Amino acid sequence: MMAPTLVDCNLWRGGALIDGEWISETAHGSYDLHNPATGEKIASLPRCKETETDAAITAAQRAQVAWRKTTAKHRSEIIHRWYELIVEHKEDLATIITIEEGKPLAEARGEIDYAASFVQWFAEEAKRVYGEIVPAPKDGQRILALRQPVGVCAAITPWNFPAAMITRKAAPALAAGCTMVVKPASQTPMTALALGELALRAGLPAGALSIITGNDTRAIGGVLTSHPLVRKLTFTGSTEVGRVLLEQAAATVKNCSMELGGNAPLIVFDDADLDLAVEGIMAAKYRNTGQSCIGANRIFVQSGVHDVLAERLVERTRALKVGNGLEEGVQIGPLIDLAAVAKLEEHLGNAVAGGAKVIAGGKRHSLGGSFFEPTVVAGVTADMTIAKEETFGPIMPLVRFDTDAEAIAMANDTIFGLAAYIFSRDAARIWRTAEAIEAGVVGVNTGLTSNEVSPFGGVKQSGLGREGSRHGIDEYVEIKYVCWAGLDTA
Ligand code: NAP
Repeated sequence: MMAPTLVDCNLWRGGALIDGEWISETAHGSYDLHNPATGEKIASLPRCKETETDAAITAAQRAQVAWRKTTAKHRSEIIHRWYELIVEHKEDLATIITIEEGKPLAEARGEIDYAASFVQWFAEEAKRVYGEIVPAPKDGQRILALRQPVGVCAAITPWNFPAAMITRKAAPALAAGCTMVVKPASQTPMTALALGELALRAGLPAGALSIITGNDTRAIGGVLTSHPLVRKLTFTGSTEVGRVLLEQAAATVKNCSMELGGNAPLIVFDDADLDLAVEGIMAAKYRNTGQSCIGANRIFVQSGVHDVLAERLVERTRALKVGNGLEEGVQIGPLIDLAAVAKLEEHLGNAVAGGAKVIAGGKRHSLGGSFFEPTVVAGVTADMTIAKEETFGPIMPLVRFDTDAEAIAMANDTIFGLAAYIFSRDAARIWRTAEAIEAGVVGVNTGLTSNEVSPFGGVKQSGLGREGSRHGIDEYVEIKYVCWAGLDTA
């Protein structure tokens, strides 16, 4: 087993975190984790099931009774300390991400900055969960709207951003006075556990943040979505699984937030600044080896600039360095597993069979394993699988278009509505297109939109609710209306 070399070895935890204790064994045995770049076994973790999930929820309820009564200032200080510890241990945390998830180390460092920014932001927002006093319609009455914590929250998170997808849920929940049980993706729990260790060091009380390990996903998910003590379910992952979880959570009418899959259109108009467009496309496509929910899945290019842009994208794509994310200068890592590679091959095969042409890359990389060549495919049409489904890999499909209306219609021809990107120099055209696009996030002349200050989330089947920004904490508070009468004492 190859454990990584870390400055602080205690960040490499071998067990689940339940009620402030590290659980290294359960009655259900263990499962192994592998580094996607090398295939080496990196850890063996206990398999939690119903009993352990139930214990974490019960502990979260116990912790919640005291935590919600603490002052906002107190919660803010502890969360801020958590932020400082994440920043202090950035290099170790980034190394853990690269080893378990595969993304290049430079991107993993970026993810830790991004993850930490939510913790800092919500440490600040903890102090601003204001209520309201509403002018009453009757004499002698005062009307108050209190904003109170929802209660025990369950979070289920994906493997592609193993740190940030947790902090943008846990930080606002804890700030609002909620407690949380996290089920990280079974392929990437080590980053979550390291964050849990740092939360304990920051002074978070036992049970306020538990982290369940295991690959018996349905057993764990079944308890998280049905337990009567869980008042809120927050999920980031595929639309397919999101639908199942919503159904399961319906029986106990849980408050649900869903950050689901995408099929982001990126539109380059004839008048675009092509330098900006190339940079934007490279960032929006190849970030995390194409495994990002807001990754550009369909690149629509207007006829006048199509060929010249395609040539420049091919040149840039061929120059990308593929390899183990720990090696200096690597820009494209392995895919998470072989199933992901099979999906790329299926999408590409379907496109080529329909008449599309591979103009860069196009096959498994000579490095073997789950490495795939960064690929550009031209002549893609709206009816191909690659344009309809989230490909989730380093394949760039180019779709040619003539009129603005045609581009907007094709962009919206999907059940998804997470992110979209527009490249143009014409303000009226940008405004018109940004308003017409059915997406929760629109990047204009940029491929990078993510930060902690902006409201992030999807429309259509890409999700419910928003994360980050001042709205992010709303997902973890409920409004209680107090009607106070009998105050006409004068
Ligand atoms: P996934 O297969 O939906 O899994 C996400 C999480 O759900 C994992 O923890 C997984 O556990 C768990 N899960 C799967 N089936 C479950 C069930 N029946 N009951 C309870 N939990 C269950 O997604 P993924 O492959 O990890 O992540 C990629 C997807 O996430 C893409 O669709 C991407 O677009 C989306 N995503 C969306 C956002 C956003 O903000 N909108 C951000 C990042 C990613 P196991 O790991 O144990 O299977």
